[in-house]
Amino acid sequence: MPVRLFNTLSGQVDELTPIDGKELRMYACGPTVYDYGHIGNFRTFLVIDVLRRFLKLSGMPIRHVMNITDVDDKIIRNAAAAGIPIGEYTPKYVDAFFEDLDALGVQRPEIIARATENIDRMVDLIEKLSAAGAAYKTDDGSWYFRLRSFPEYGKLSKKDLSGMEDGARVDVDEYEKDSARDFALWKAAKPGETSWETSIGRGRPGWHIECSAMSMEYLGDSFDLHAGGEDLMFPHHENEIAQSESVTHKPLAHHWMHVRFLLVDGRKMSKSEGNFYTLRDLLLKGYKASAIRLALISVPYRHQLNFTFDGLIEATAAIDRLRTFNSRLVKSVFPAGENPEIQAAAKKAHEDYLSALANDLNTAEARAPIFDLIRLSNTVMDQGKFCQSDREAVGAVLSSFDAVFAVIEDHDAGPTRLAVQWAEKEGRLADVSPELLAQQSLTDGAINALVAERDQAKKRRDFARADQIRKELTEKGILIEDSKDGVRWKRK
Ligand code: AMP
Ligand code: ZN
Repeated sequence: MPVRLFNTLSGQVDELTPIDGKELRMYACGPTVYDYGHIGNFRTFLVIDVLRRFLKLSGMPIRHVMNITDVDDKIIRNAAAAGIPIGEYTPKYVDAFFEDLDALGVQRPEIIARATENIDRMVDLIEKLSAAGAAYKTDDGSWYFRLRSFPEYGKLSKKDLSGMEDGARVDVDEYEKDSARDFALWKAAKPGETSWETSIGRGRPGWHIECSAMSMEYLGDSFDLHAGGEDLMFPHHENEIAQSESVTHKPLAHHWMHVRFLLVDGRKMSKSEGNFYTLRDLLLKGYKASAIRLALISVPYRHQLNFTFDGLIEATAAIDRLRTFNSRLVKSVFPAGENPEIQAAAKKAHEDYLSALANDLNTAEARAPIFDLIRLSNTVMDQGKFCQSDREAVGAVLSSFDAVFAVIEDHDAGPTRLAVQWAEKEGRLADVSPELLAQQSLTDGAINALVAERDQAKKRRDFARADQIRKELTEKGILIEDSKDGVRWKRK
């Protein structure tokens, strides 16, 4: 089934196929590691994860590159405020970023490229731009891109830049002006700032040149897909196109994907509005990583996502439904044979699920047939008409769903535990919900010991003690389940 995706450059939904007929080469702009990631950032990284998982499920080999911007204006400012070099400032946030991606079940790209490890490539590109007449040096030793040299500027964001001021310059990395300016490629070293001694002078790269240089280094001059949040379309991606195509005269990427922003309670997320959340904030409030993942991916990427706590509660309930059903499916004993109604429903649900994803990654439409299938299967199970072969048919649909949505298999305990440990280390235990704190105060070893003690109590028929232990554990959010294979426990 061909995968179709809206292409900002063409303005229409285009089929996504590898230009080289072999592997899909994609570049997604990564984080600027000056602070912890917020849920808006993670919406974008999750959408890209859903895309890569779906491409892999469709059998398409991919080479996915993500950059890490570990030098930029904000990093330099924050590191200076902390009184440390940027090389000491960023590792904490790089580690936190990957820990957060792991918590959310985001798969690692094939290649992770750090800006500070690719300075030579950026310098090389600036030299080529200079040779092509598209870059010039100013008196202070900085380098700028000459916008006038690239008449196609604005083709991605469809901005009318006819009134652009020739020679007007901007040296900050991010700007929202409609009138474009010559932008900084290389910033001359300022006293005390991190800088590199290079053939074009001492200084540091601008943000835009990083992505041009690193995408072409790892994917070639022209690749299949370039992705990022909607804020990156202008000027960042427009500038990447100008920098790369001025040198190669080939399209940098054939397909451009932009993820709409996440709002919180209908408003732009901001610290001053008090509606700003990192992943860690939500984990400490007791929400599960899987519920956060589901809430952030269930709205199709071209729609604004209005994040609310009600939405998070809905996602938590949806995951409960999925997991409860999955365990019923796996554990129940069914009569031999197959039920034609279930067989047909499973086939249809699978087709509808795959075609919704293939149709511009419509995650909302992809979810619906899965829940319909669960509802029907539960009813048929209640009637005793669900058969052994139906288990395989429905199980295959669930595993196809989980290959992309990745919420049924339960990995929630780890991220929650790490978040609480982190809060302790950062002096933020006051932000941990009381219920979660009580639950986490019991180590796995302590729980095992209590479970063993309960077992002993039952063996000597001291049911009062056994019940007391169960009650104590339940109060701390530990659920114990007696089965014929022994006692199992899990954190709620
Ligand atoms: P940054 O670390 O700021 O460079 O952002 C990393 C990624 O998150 C980029 O692709 C941004 O476009 C994206 N992003 C930032 N804010 C939001 C938001 N509120 N909603 C969705 N994506 C966002
Ligand atoms: Zn970028």
